[in-house]
Amino acid sequence: MKLLENQVAVVTGGGRGIGRAVALKLAGEGADIVVVSRTAENAQKVAAEVQALGRQAWAVAVDVADGPAVTAAAETLVEQVKKVDILVNNAGITRDGLLMRMSDADWDTVLNTNLKGAFHFTRALFRVFARQRSGRIINISSVIGLIGNPGQANYAASKAGLIGFTQSVARELAGRGVTVNAVAPGFIETDMTAELNETLKANILRQIPMARFGAAEDIAEAVCFLAGPGARYITGQVLTVDGGMVM
Ligand code: NDP
Repeated sequence: MKLLENQVAVVTGGGRGIGRAVALKLAGEGADIVVVSRTAENAQKVAAEVQALGRQAWAVAVDVADGPAVTAAAETLVEQVKKVDILVNNAGITRDGLLMRMSDADWDTVLNTNLKGAFHFTRALFRVFARQRSGRIINISSVIGLIGNPGQANYAASKAGLIGFTQSVARELAGRGVTVNAVAPGFIETDMTAELNETLKANILRQIPMARFGAAEDIAEAVCFLAGPGARYITGQVLTVDGGMVM
C-alpha cells in the first residue's frame, strides 16, 4: 500500500516547475491528480505523465486569479472526482521591480495570482474538506515572504500574506480534521528563476549554507510529507525548504 493510495490531489500551477514535480511525486505515492494550470497544453502534458505512472489525472485550465472561473471549475471537478483529499495552492508568478517604479498592474497581478488565487481555490473546496472531516491543504509560500527582498515588495507581500492565510484557515478547519500548512521554498531551479542573471544567482548561492540551488523535487518531498499520514498532527506551520538560507 502506497502512502497516498487512492487519494485525490488538486495541484494548482501543476503544468510546470514545482507544481509538476509535486503532481508526479504525489502520483508516485498513489494519488490521482487534478492538474490545474493557466495553459491547457501544460496541464494536459503533466496529466499524461501522471497517467503514465498508472494514476488517474484530469487537466483543468483556469486562471486562479479569476474567482468565478475557479468556482465553476471546482464545481465541475468535484462532480467528476467526487472527493478531494489534498489541495496544493502552488500557482504563482513574479513581476519584479523597485517599489518607486512599481505599477498598480504589477502589484495587482501578483497579489491576485499568488494570494487571491489560493483564497479562491481554498474557498471553492472548503465545504468539501469540512464535510469530509479530513484533508490536507498546502500553500506554497516562499522564504521571500519571511525575510523580504528588494525589488519584490509585491511578491513578498503575497507570500507573507499566504502565511497569515494558512494560519487562519488552519484554525478554521482544525476541528474538522483538516490540516493547513505552508512550504516556503528557497531558490529552486525552475522557469521562474531561469531568467535571473548570473551575478544575482552567484550572490544568492553565497547565502545558501548547503551551497546548491534546490530542485523542484526537493519541494515535492516536503509537500508529500505534509500530505501524508506522518504529518497528521501538524497544522498552521511553515516548513522552510531552502538549504539553510533562512534559519
Ligand atoms: P513556474 O513559473 O515554473 O510555474 C508556475 C506555474 O504556475 C505554471 O504551471 C503556471 O501555469 C502556473 N500559473 C501561473 N499563474 C497562474 C494563474 N494565474 N492561474 C493558474 N496557473 C498559473 O514557477 P515555479 O514552479 O518556480 O513556482 C511555483 C510556486 O513556487 C510559485 O508559487 C512560486 O512563487 C513558488 N516559489 C518558487 C521558488 C523558486 O525559486 N522557483 C522559490 C519560492 C517559491 P502555465 O504553465 O499555464 O503558465
